[in-house]
Amino acid sequence: MEQSLRTILTEFERTGDLHYVDRPVDLRYELGAVLALRGHGPTLFFRRVIGRDWPVIGNLLNSPGKIARGLGLEPAQVQPALIRAMEQGLPPEIVPEGRSQEVVHPEPLDLMRLLPVPTWFERESGPYITAGVVVAKDPASGRRNVSIARFRVEGGNVLLAGIAPTHHLGELVRRAQARRMPLEIAIAIGNHPAVLLASQMYLQLGHDEFDVAGALLGEPVRLVHGRTVDLEVPAEAEIVIEGAIHPEETMEEGLVSEFHGCYMAYGPGQAVRVRAVTHRRDPIYQAIAPGFVPEHLLLGAQAIAATTCRAIRRVMPNVRQVHLTEGGMGRLHAIVTIHQPAPGDGKRAIMMAMAQTNLLKLVIAVDDDIDPTDWTQVEWALAARMKGHEDIMIIPEARADRCDLQAVNRTVTKVGITATTRPDDPQSSETARCRPPLDVWTRVRAELDTY
Ligand code: MN
Repeated sequence: MEQSLRTILTEFERTGDLHYVDRPVDLRYELGAVLALRGHGPTLFFRRVIGRDWPVIGNLLNSPGKIARGLGLEPAQVQPALIRAMEQGLPPEIVPEGRSQEVVHPEPLDLMRLLPVPTWFERESGPYITAGVVVAKDPASGRRNVSIARFRVEGGNVLLAGIAPTHHLGELVRRAQARRMPLEIAIAIGNHPAVLLASQMYLQLGHDEFDVAGALLGEPVRLVHGRTVDLEVPAEAEIVIEGAIHPEETMEEGLVSEFHGCYMAYGPGQAVRVRAVTHRRDPIYQAIAPGFVPEHLLLGAQAIAATTCRAIRRVMPNVRQVHLTEGGMGRLHAIVTIHQPAPGDGKRAIMMAMAQTNLLKLVIAVDDDIDPTDWTQVEWALAARMKGHEDIMIIPEARADRCDLQAVNRTVTKVGITATTRPDDPQSSETARCRPPLDVWTRVRAELDTY
């Protein structure tokens, strides 16, 4: 099968989920504004980008339905598939040549002229590459790591890398720095959805994200040797930037946007010296609108939810699903569903979810008769099943993520709400909810489109 972005673009075109924009668009703020305002709308293909030759696509995986279709699945199958792929990976395969290297630009490079990189926000200091899947290797073990980081385009062949210190790539940079070496990287732009999603998974350092991508694809990811770096890169990506992070060369970044839609100041980033850019003969540049915009929120949400669900299920097999809400920025608020919860199961699942990641600060536990993706049903569970005096758990000064807008000394108050049935509750059995006989209800629901 084709392992490229184009597979899904063709599919979205067929179903009317791809819209071509013919009006010339300015990379400075205008393109980003269109993507943000079209949040959940069709995938946008900007044919004419002012001052650049390559088209730009955005809002590719901006709904749960499109993420599912990108993987060839139904929405309800995505989380189980992600968990399976983390547990049973399929290692990549090295092939002699790939379309991502049809054209090779060696140095000298003018990245600003070559790449159609949008400038997103008024107070950010420059254009940012936001859909760059970074391949790197651990200087100690040689094990590969695949992740997304933001890169600001500087002059000439230089990028600035903005890497979260807690991410594996941050650890690899520190390990290279300890050896007084640069860290070689390759940034692949325009990838198959399986590669994008796999790059977001929270795994152990040393667990190759391409193994997860292969399991999601159902076949090994095809990689080619980099031209100027000792790394393997996706053979069917649109564009690959090869170079190295120089940890000792720091540059001030200024304000940067975060998933909550506000600016943060993280201090200096590190210089990337680019050695070559390779690409297809007719490359498509992919942009993921940053900030509080659906695609950015959803990609992270899927990964955090699957990782959290996998961790809880190891000790609580009756936990069914974890969902991160979009209003909770796809990062901070989770709904956990539990099958036939015993007394105390809700609180246990909530504590495990919060222990799994610093990000989560509101976790609601519900029965698995509630669809966690439907906020009205979750709110119904709060209204029908929560006893406020005993079901709301408040944990002050718990460890927070550095991004949290309410964090003080990297701590924040976390809230867990149990809205599950109790065994002695009238609502604990299905029959207590008024509806037609279950067989009729189930059949009508399945055949609803025929009425
Ligand atoms: Mn990793």
